[in-house]
Amino acid sequence: MRSLPKVDRLLERADIVALAEAHPRAVVTDAIRETLDAVRAEILSGMRDELAEDDVAAAVIDLVELKSTRSLRRVINATGIVVHTNLGRSRLAREAVAAVAEVAGGYSTLEYDVASGERGSRHSHVEALICKLTGAEAAMAVNNNAAAVLLGLAGLARGKEAIVSRGQLVEIGGSFRVPDVMAESGATMVEVGTTNKTHLSDYEKALTPATGLLLKVHTSNYRVVGFTEEVTLSDLVGLAAGHGIPVMEDQGSGVLVDLRKWGLPYEPTVAESIAAGADVVTCSGDKLLGGPQAGIIAGKWHVIAALKKHPLARAIRLDKMTLAALEVTLRLYLDEDLARRDIPTLSMLSATKESIAERAVRLADEIGRACGDAYLAGTSEDVSRAGGGAMPMEDIPTVVVAIVPQRMSVTELEVRLRAADTPIVARINADRLLIDPRTLTLGEEAEIVAVLAALVER
Ligand SMILES: *Cc1c(COP(=O)(O)O)cnc(C)c1O
Repeated sequence: MRSLPKVDRLLERADIVALAEAHPRAVVTDAIRETLDAVRAEILSGMRDELAEDDVAAAVIDLVELKSTRSLRRVINATGIVVHTNLGRSRLAREAVAAVAEVAGGYSTLEYDVASGERGSRHSHVEALICKLTGAEAAMAVNNNAAAVLLGLAGLARGKEAIVSRGQLVEIGGSFRVPDVMAESGATMVEVGTTNKTHLSDYEKALTPATGLLLKVHTSNYRVVGFTEEVTLSDLVGLAAGHGIPVMEDQGSGVLVDLRKWGLPYEPTVAESIAAGADVVTCSGDKLLGGPQAGIIAGKWHVIAALKKHPLARAIRLDKMTLAALEVTLRLYLDEDLARRDIPTLSMLSATKESIAERAVRLADEIGRACGDAYLAGTSEDVSRAGGGAMPMEDIPTVVVAIVPQRMSVTELEVRLRAADTPIVARINADRLLIDPRTLTLGEEAEIVAVLAALVER
């Protein structure tokens, strides 16, 4: 014990002095105490006899570096899951990132009308764009789609009954469940129909003087297939109109363009829901729309005007950085070719199998060249996924790089890639590590090769 260096002595060492210049002093002194405590405990338990001062200092440096690593940081998504919820859903377009940086680092027109010099509305930055792209009369954006649904339900059906089909009691990622959001909103949920079949007459029979809303929820992350029936939005609108009741649709993924034009499966668009006569349509900003986390609410003028004034609206409002990203992303949609080119979610989803195959072949070759016989790297046909609870049944054909490590197990390789400075997240299938170029950004292939090569050298 007595051989262990004292805190003051460690703080005088050149390497620790340099460490304390690059990091907050408190972090360094805490790390020294923590390291010494750990070594003392090991000596007491007989795990070791002593530890040289140089080794203590090295342990302190490692610990400070570990504590200084940012928690929220970039990862390389090699999974081929485009809207990967755990990895932050959509990547923003380059133009959107620049707009975020601009308003984040300075003052902005967030709630200021430059023309009049008076107070403006934060909704103004996105409202006209959403209306233009969806055909809605009015629009607003809030923190996320869950908040949009909550606000819609609270604003339209609090203290009243909201009718919804049993086939649409969706759960998204555990924390968004239609019955729970309904309860929180103060609306009373009235379930109609069965899991697989709901008829218009089911809604009709459930109508009472207390009915405040008909709700339709897009089953974005699952499909009811087989002997099924669902009531169309326009039929719901027709029924509701006769009784003076509003209809709200939770559209989910925020599709603004008919994706079939880019060879992707059909997904209902927000514009179709508006055209069918929905009073309110809600969707996410960061799923297939490809923008920042946000909830878009589009619909009839009088409904949106009431929701903007609702007390909940302030609690779930968007900040300037998100609004900046959303505005720029929506602007790109004014030219659909531009949207496909510049919005990463759209360009990754619509990339052809042939273009992905070329990237896979090149990456496999580079791994071979840089790492010799440490890995067997070839290409293999596989599937990518949209993810983010969208297009759940659709396999998007892709070509992956399949790596079989020769000097470690495939699970060990997977762990080591995740431990890289910029973690690499990949899939394992049948003892091969799979890298899907579909979700890699420019330059990330080279990063992957460098990490694989560094693992060989160790
Ligand atoms: C994703 C989704 C939600 C939740 O949206 P968030 O943006 O994650 O809050 C709600 N409803 C449907 C139908 C969805 O697909």
